[in-house]
Amino acid sequence: MSARVLVVDDVVPNVKLLAAKLTREYFDVITAYGGPEALDKIRSQSPDIVLLDVMMPGMDGFEVCERIRSDPSVMHIPVVMVTALSDVADRVRGLEAGADDFLTKPVNDVALFARVRSLVRLKMMMDEWRLRESTSGQLGMLVATDSVQTQSAENSRILVVEDSSIDMDKIRETLARDRDGVVEAENCAAALELALSQDFELVIISLTLMREDGLRLCSQLRSHERTRQVPILLLADETDMDRVAKGLELGANDYVIKPIDRNELMARTRTQVRRKRYQDRLRSNYEQSLSLALTDSLTGLFNRRYLSAHLPRLLDRGGGNQKPVAALLFDIDHFKIVNDTWGHSAGDEVLREVAVRTSRNLRNFDLVTRLGGEEFVVVMPDTDLSSAMTVAERLRRRIADEPFKVTATAGTGEITVTISIGVAVADGTDGDGRGESGDSLLRRADTALYRVKRSGRNRVVADTRDQSEPAPEAFSGASGLR
Ligand code: GH3
Ligand code: MG
Ligand code: MG
Repeated sequence: MSARVLVVDDVVPNVKLLAAKLTREYFDVITAYGGPEALDKIRSQSPDIVLLDVMMPGMDGFEVCERIRSDPSVMHIPVVMVTALSDVADRVRGLEAGADDFLTKPVNDVALFARVRSLVRLKMMMDEWRLRESTSGQLGMLVATDSVQTQSAENSRILVVEDSSIDMDKIRETLARDRDGVVEAENCAAALELALSQDFELVIISLTLMREDGLRLCSQLRSHERTRQVPILLLADETDMDRVAKGLELGANDYVIKPIDRNELMARTRTQVRRKRYQDRLRSNYEQSLSLALTDSLTGLFNRRYLSAHLPRLLDRGGGNQKPVAALLFDIDHFKIVNDTWGHSAGDEVLREVAVRTSRNLRNFDLVTRLGGEEFVVVMPDTDLSSAMTVAERLRRRIADEPFKVTATAGTGEITVTISIGVAVADGTDGDGRGESGDSLLRRADTALYRVKRSGRNRVVADTRDQSEPAPEAFSGASGLR
């Protein structure tokens, strides 16, 4: 994992020492000897992570951190505060200032690499989510100022495996301050079972269990799909740093050394919970943007892309079209006149109302899509031609019989809107025994629609295939499926 690390400290030997350690691990290291220089380099060289000394003359680490967090172009860069051993209060203050983590001097190698790696990994993952989100064309879903730090850390669900009652009391008391829901597991097997059946936002595992090795649970949690992403915090003795290192390798996210310092436990717990919540948020935004990619933003109906993915599946179901599938392709009549007379936004209102009336008059497993412009497709599984004609005729009347209310700058008004509908049914009787393709079905519905338009509009016409019309042209243009 090659990452650029900015080391900031006013004491030259401190910088040199950290830089040497990181360089040995193949990090690309840049340095700064004070706050203003650090801010310059953060903006000009975009590091993947900043290791920031707290005590510096002039601008101290807290201020540098606050400035990073208030500049949208760099606010996503992780910051690790490096504090003197004694300053427990400073650590918490650092996190309040927006630091992602803290290290204590003298910096222990395991701690350094664990935290740098885990933050860099996190940053890369988030960069990836952000990129995907912007490629899917839905940028703006993420609030720009949304970050790990803005997530609440309260009321989280935490699973704890700890057999020392003194430590357990301490953990329970500490976590109670954030009103966290703490579930205590008797042993590792019980913990695994709980973690596999409920959603936790953090699992705290003691590495000082009398009869078991917490590392095994650590690796089990990472091997199950359901728990792969849950943050893990280890509790260990200082003499056991080798196992801590092993745990971090296995995928634990962080650790606290015993005797447990309450502030530290609380700070590290909060950090893990915040990160988890932020990641979940990015993921669900992404999923939502995917679903947006399949729906039409004006009407909320499915779009052409969804139809072209879904229709073949409907037609294929059960290995051939044993059950008929009906398609209604309809188009608003003289819609251009609505726009020209009432304005584009009144036109949009009409489109939305058409979508509402259409959806309301169908079964909920019928698929309604807006193909584009003022063209819609309804796909009805398990529907033969005569039922399809009945539905189409009912739909036509629901649109035509009740005027649409529209608002324009000139005032409100009522207009009559009509639609023309072409109907085609795939009934599984296609020549060579194979089912009809979605393209072919829609092409036939389009042919029927074309006939309605030529013969006066506001009608329903079915394509009955045996008609001796010239072969329909490829389904394309505004009605094309691809
Ligand atoms: P026909 O009866 O032959 O279908 O006539 P038409 O006027 O409905 O057909 P035409 O294809 O000539 O015009 C369609 C109009 O639909 C033109 C276009 O500006 C308008 N339109 C397409 N998409 C939208 C939209 O999202 N909102 C609005 N308000 N108008 C749209
Ligand atoms: Mg039209
Ligand atoms: Mg049209």
